[in-house]
Amino acid sequence: MGDTIFGKIIRREIPADIVFENDELLAFRDVNPQAPVHVLFIPKKPIATLDDAIPEDAALLGRLLLAAADYARREGFAAQGYRTVVNCNEYGGQTVFHLHVHLLAGRRLHWPPG
Ligand code: IMP
Repeated sequence: MGDTIFGKIIRREIPADIVFENDELLAFRDVNPQAPVHVLFIPKKPIATLDDAIPEDAALLGRLLLAAADYARREGFAAQGYRTVVNCNEYGGQTVFHLHVHLLAGRRLHWPPG
């Protein structure tokens, strides 16, 4: 599986504004934020896309989503609301091929997305 810029962030080879880390997950601010809060949650395991996730990843992916929810609650914007997004492959708009959950908050978000 090819390395990505997120792999470099995990290994601290390039800087990132890290807001959460444990042994299997990392979260950092998106370099090109689309909302006042835009944080990316990633597993340290380099799963390229959601399409590459396997049944053994189920618990990890559950903890990934819950880490985003915990962060939203901790930061105080959970009740107001937020959005989590996982883009997959070309038509999904994925540009970095290391699975990540976008957490967007701090403004009213539009639906449907473009
Ligand atoms: P995708 O389009 O769903 O794959 O999302 C990739 C996201 O990674 C985009 O929102 C980018 O702005 C973001 N991104 C790319 N490189 C970096 C980086 O070095 N640090 C933080 N965010 C990045």
